[in-house]
Amino acid sequence: MRKRIYQCLAAGVILLGICHPSWASAEAVPMDIHQPETAMAAAAAKKKPIPAKDRARYEKLRQENQGRLAEKEKFIPTTAQSVIVTFGGISRKESVEDILDRLDSYGAKGTFFVTERELRQNKDIVREIIDRGHEIGIGLRTGTDGDYFETCAQIERFQKRCMKEFGIKPVIARQIFGFDKPGVNEACSALGIRYFGAQINGVLTQDKDESDVNTVFSHVFKKSMYSMGRGQILYIRLDFMNHPLITGQLLDMIKKYKIDNIAYRSFNDSPESNPDNDTAYHMTSIGEVLADKEHAWTYPVPDKDIPEELKPSAVAVKIDDHNFWDEFRKRYIGSPDVRTIARVKGFPESRMDKMDKTGVVKGITDNTIFFGFDDWGSDQSVNRLLYVLRKHHAPCNFFVMTWNVHSNPNLLRVIAENGHDIGGHTNGHRPMVPQRTVSGRWNMLDDKAFMEDVRQSYRILAETAGDVKVNGRPSLTRYFRPPTLAVSKRGAEALFNEGYSYIISGYESTEDYDALSLESVIGAIEHGIYDEQGNVRQGVVFVVHMSDHARYTAEAMDIILTANEKRPDGDPKKFKTGRLSDYLKDGYDQSRIPSGNEIIDSRSREHKIKTERLHEK
Ligand SMILES: [Zn+2]
Repeated sequence: MRKRIYQCLAAGVILLGICHPSWASAEAVPMDIHQPETAMAAAAAKKKPIPAKDRARYEKLRQENQGRLAEKEKFIPTTAQSVIVTFGGISRKESVEDILDRLDSYGAKGTFFVTERELRQNKDIVREIIDRGHEIGIGLRTGTDGDYFETCAQIERFQKRCMKEFGIKPVIARQIFGFDKPGVNEACSALGIRYFGAQINGVLTQDKDESDVNTVFSHVFKKSMYSMGRGQILYIRLDFMNHPLITGQLLDMIKKYKIDNIAYRSFNDSPESNPDNDTAYHMTSIGEVLADKEHAWTYPVPDKDIPEELKPSAVAVKIDDHNFWDEFRKRYIGSPDVRTIARVKGFPESRMDKMDKTGVVKGITDNTIFFGFDDWGSDQSVNRLLYVLRKHHAPCNFFVMTWNVHSNPNLLRVIAENGHDIGGHTNGHRPMVPQRTVSGRWNMLDDKAFMEDVRQSYRILAETAGDVKVNGRPSLTRYFRPPTLAVSKRGAEALFNEGYSYIISGYESTEDYDALSLESVIGAIEHGIYDEQGNVRQGVVFVVHMSDHARYTAEAMDIILTANEKRPDGDPKKFKTGRLSDYLKDGYDQSRIPSGNEIIDSRSREHKIKTERLHEK
């Protein structure tokens, strides 16, 4: 019982910064990979001045561009199962050949950013990269000059030479030397060039002399970074590390432990054994992802594409002291475990007695049950889960904690496109009632801060998945699951006034993020699905998790859903999963009198089960 108080602790730990995902941080370019200033100054001095005619043309383009800056893109909005690999520093042939061989062995393509000088001095290597099917991008040098005109000239010289030598015209760029300067972004925008960075930098300054790839790998990927993600860009500089083959070894490790690990593999189902298992991710180039229009989307979603009723600005029913209690009873699906002042705040005793504690959606008579996956995860945990649900045609509900969605919005987009309901779970995972955890007391947000948090959280959901419709129905909902399931009057008021429509806890919290075995997760879920007589608890809502800590959840769902599919129709044990949005609509009212085999609220689970039996008799 005590453990339940720590529900979603996994998410809380992340928030406390113990395992902060490193991909949320800015791309770090090693400082000492820049060429010495003197060499750069010499190179700059050698450069011919930009001809007046070109300068005038660049000026005209600048005016037409109206000051727009090409944003540095660290990922590409796509739902394709593609991880983007990019490289720079191609002058060391041994390292490039090694990478090309490895890419061939994976059947993968990459993007190689080449500088003007490399294009002149390493023509054979560039030709080989192109001949072996890879993409060339413009490697910009912006150390000393890097202003608008110089960048325009640099891009055009590069394109001209590439066209002459290889018959191609690269239209993507990244910075190889130097620092961000607005002139560079402006020049890219004016010339129609996409400007890229990377979310993961495979070469860190501290590792220059390192010869053990395991050490390098552990520096690049912090413990909490379980996998790479769809559309995320990896950048590896090939000529920085003293050991020429370590970058290739690193690429191998990344493929094995951060890309291949995303696929779903159980004892009887893997991409190798099952042609329908489509969970493997691939390495690819920027160009291939940009060309894949089918999986492309616009991030953030333009406001005009979001249906009126789902717009963050949509005005909700105003809640105040006069109508709060009625609205709350209609719109709150509680939990049998949320009944004490430790988890409920601001309700008088008499009201607490009448709060919903069933954890069940009422009026359901066809063995439909609801899984609600909480928090947030990596492509590893979420992709596996989505596959299992797809395989068993099991629509579900996802309650997303949003603070880190910005570093991987493609993943949220994919959940929505799989046809599941998307609901909120706060931005920062702060509960409405403060609770003691192993690491002390969580800070309680004041009312205003809580309101800000849930407002921001919904905005993130809307700008990432607000326009997704599956079979004509939006995936985004205005449902909310409270962190730790704790609920306060002021918090509920804030939620309703921010436009959230229902607050949904649930009957069974599986603690799957803390499970020690697959069997224990299966046991916990089955305990919630069936009553003592083995009948399905119709309308029951579950609290499960999509986080990487919940490492048995996907396989447990696979086993439970596989067994369920084998049951004949009409078997009382056969259930189906549902989206809450099929039921919580048209003024659905949780406070109406229970009927059928719905669970009657009572002081304890045992009592409740007995009561249920009595009602059935
Ligand atoms: Zn949670």
